[in-house]
Amino acid sequence: MALRIGVMSLQGAVEPHIKALTECGARAERVRTPEETERLDGLILPGGESTTMGILMSRFGLMEAVQKRAAEGMPVYGACAGMILMAKQIVDSEQPRLELMDIRVRRNAYGRQVDSFEAPIEMPSLGGEPFPGVFIRAPFIESAEPHVRRLAELDGRPVLVQEGNLLASSFHPELTADRRIHRYFLQMSDNESGA
Ligand code: GLN
Repeated sequence: MALRIGVMSLQGAVEPHIKALTECGARAERVRTPEETERLDGLILPGGESTTMGILMSRFGLMEAVQKRAAEGMPVYGACAGMILMAKQIVDSEQPRLELMDIRVRRNAYGRQVDSFEAPIEMPSLGGEPFPGVFIRAPFIESAEPHVRRLAELDGRPVLVQEGNLLASSFHPELTADRRIHRYFLQMSDNESGA
């Protein structure tokens, strides 16, 4: 049976994740209501604009729904704006968030000189060639608690992190043809659904 992976579809880069997940053999579902989080094996929070996405999630009761499912062990992956929503701390911001991960992020921190750029990311734990990291007004992870695993770094700063069933990246893997991060997330979701 194909894994059912939701993509939060209120705002942001939804379609490239749907395509990536479908290519990896998952059943990708657009999520807009709390009920749609119920039977998922995993959920992706896409890149976009984290303030807007957070406000819409709060309005539609999706904060509580995702917090509940994450506490039950459902894997959640946040890319870029999605990562901001998962962080417990956001520098200089009171915006609504899920507060799931023990990381402190700073918004738009890679965007001061150039809005977007691509950089090869070494991912020793995932193996193989460096990953083509696409950064678009991307957040820094300023600090992470010691139990947060650093799966990849750029210039000594973590850009892909995992905390149990939670995964987050500063960059946008869905905008490349490299599916290793989506596959990794599907493995996390498979382990969970088989548990
Ligand atoms: N700059 C956006 C934010 O702070 C994130 C950008 C992105 O997701 N590509 O919400």
